[in-house]
Amino acid sequence: MSYLLSADKKLRGRTRKGDFKMKKTQGLSFVVLALFLVFTIIIVGFGCGSESAESRIGTVDQIEITLTLMPESHSIDASATITWTPARIDTFFFLLHNGLEIYGVGVFGGVATGRLDYGVGESAAAQVSRLTGQETEEPREFGHLRLYGLGVEAEKGRPIELSFAYRGEIYDSVSVPEFSRWQIADETTGLIDPKGAFLTPGTGYYPLHPGTGSLATFKSTIEYPEGWEAVVEGNIVTSKPGRTTFDSVQPLDGSYLVAGPYKLSRLDADGIEIAMYHYPQSASLTGRYLGASASYIKKYNELIGPYAFERFSVVENWFPTGYGMPTYTLLGSQVIRLPFIVGTSLGHEVCHNWWGNGVLVDYESGNWCEGLTVYCADYLYKLEESEEAAKQYRMDALRAYSEYIVRGDDEDMPLRDFRERTTAGTRTIGYGKSMMVFHMVEQRIGSEAFWEALREIYREKQFERTSWKDFFETFERLSGVELGWFLKQWIDRPGAPGFAIGPVQFEGDEDGGLIEFYLEQVQEGNPYKMDIPIRITYTDGSQEDGLLHDVSGKIYHARVLVRAEPTKMEIDPDFRLFRILDQMEAPPTLAGFFATVNPLIILPATTDPLFETYSSLAEAFTRKGGEIIKGEEIGDERLIGRTVLHLGNFEQMKVTRDGATFTLAGATLDGANIAVVNAWRDSEDPSITHLGIWGESPEAIMPLGSKLPHYGKYSYLAFSSGRNIVKGQWPVEDSPLKVRIGG
Ligand SMILES: [Zn+2]
Repeated sequence: MSYLLSADKKLRGRTRKGDFKMKKTQGLSFVVLALFLVFTIIIVGFGCGSESAESRIGTVDQIEITLTLMPESHSIDASATITWTPARIDTFFFLLHNGLEIYGVGVFGGVATGRLDYGVGESAAAQVSRLTGQETEEPREFGHLRLYGLGVEAEKGRPIELSFAYRGEIYDSVSVPEFSRWQIADETTGLIDPKGAFLTPGTGYYPLHPGTGSLATFKSTIEYPEGWEAVVEGNIVTSKPGRTTFDSVQPLDGSYLVAGPYKLSRLDADGIEIAMYHYPQSASLTGRYLGASASYIKKYNELIGPYAFERFSVVENWFPTGYGMPTYTLLGSQVIRLPFIVGTSLGHEVCHNWWGNGVLVDYESGNWCEGLTVYCADYLYKLEESEEAAKQYRMDALRAYSEYIVRGDDEDMPLRDFRERTTAGTRTIGYGKSMMVFHMVEQRIGSEAFWEALREIYREKQFERTSWKDFFETFERLSGVELGWFLKQWIDRPGAPGFAIGPVQFEGDEDGGLIEFYLEQVQEGNPYKMDIPIRITYTDGSQEDGLLHDVSGKIYHARVLVRAEPTKMEIDPDFRLFRILDQMEAPPTLAGFFATVNPLIILPATTDPLFETYSSLAEAFTRKGGEIIKGEEIGDERLIGRTVLHLGNFEQMKVTRDGATFTLAGATLDGANIAVVNAWRDSEDPSITHLGIWGESPEAIMPLGSKLPHYGKYSYLAFSSGRNIVKGQWPVEDSPLKVRIGG
């Protein structure tokens, strides 16, 4: 199965640095890659197993596409010219969408030795079935992709051009995804509609060579109806109404085409064209998006290095997406209206033009680009806000890992194996842990060397596949700090350390003395090696921060000299280490509920006037499992050891009510149709989270089914007619890593 996992990054992950996922497309490119493996196997059969796939199959270096969009008939008429350098194989294999009919083939610089065969490689197809476990009735088709082969006689190692003309319908309608905690992108493999066109490499709208994964440059000329605009990666070569030619500038894994009846707003930012392709009703948003995009580009120009392209675009999509392609980001109509997107996701997607789409990811050795983009965007914005906001962000990353992986049902994996986010659990690793690893590197080698190393990597490795190892070598070179063990510990190994403090003793007086204690690493497996932050608070209220250097044993005997009489000692109080968070270090949150696949849901009594409404809500929360019981059926024994959702039980909400006025966590709740949400820990077992939901009316309650999963990091929430009006976390009073000393 590791083949299949490593396969799925190949086509899709490389170009699109999206942060919401698109399931179907992924599955398809996964098939494409499975094919790649099969070809490799077959060709190995010819001998010479040590050769790379590239040296057997050759490379595709350039793809030139001319494509006319016909939205009314959901179709295209297109031609693609592929520059192929054959190696040992004399058949050009490719996949194309099965709605497309090929009506012309040309070979330049070589001789076609046979007709274009649909279904060449049936044995390959059989092996794909075997590898994927997918039975196909028609072994030449993989989902919506059809496999072709064209026999060609050509000089090995000399590029030739293959041209294909094709036309037909591409219309995989956008389906509303089943209820999911994280997925907000609707699913389609690609479609052409009067509302807009969305075509990805996985769509197969141009011939996909399932060969070597080599990068190709793209030149695309797109024709579209009057009143439409089209966007492809890279710079615009020529443009006139109804027709635009794009040049990818740099080699890509694949090309994404988006088009629609857009209005175009533009801004010149120091020679870089910032554009927004939007629907007429979004005109009022353009000022904010253009201005913010320009300032993000300026920010990263200064922080990392000059932007590599002539333009950047924000493109509105009529179904929900949040993708970042080179030179543009595709955001759904609802997404761009969310007030926080300009301040967070937009900057993140712009930053991917440096990390991911600028310096490319060598996926074989793990995807580092999400963690680094988070560190240079989402996290950095928090740091610019305040140290406290940054600390909170780190704690949230630790807590998400602890909830979803350590105490939840999601699987752990080393960063080396992270390809892309598919679940909340993979997100906590590929984004959260990865971001924390960059933070720990910065702590270890110092900010100056850290940022200088990032600038150097951007300079030296732009548009090259780059691995974790490349980063660590640069960090080492610029800092002189040896990090080989650090890479092994944090990139190759799954998991995280967890800590417990043994009895703490202080020998001394008001002039200081010695604190002694045992620090135990309580996680399974070998101990980690770390510098561990420690904070001492003195009787006069002053504080002192220090480090326990190179702590490495399972049990570490710590001796700390202090300058006055201490009252408190804290281990990693600012959450600077990636570690398992003790439950009591973090407030209870909704994530504690959503991390469980088998919750118990308690409805109010059947006599409750909102019983039916709560029942519908309960259904929404149990599509992946769980048990629903009526209020009358409740008995204590059923609650033991279960994560519980309490519906319609006002007493548990920590809300006060005075007539029509509600108060939650000190805030007065304004508006009609009030609903409140509250998370708390089980009094017997703090690892168990309880969640309560109460609302005034069906209009208050029903919107929560789809909304709450996006509020995982909060302890309490209030909504008015489905609109969030209050959110927050309950304060943390005490934790096992904060120890009082003396008196
Ligand atoms: Zn991202």
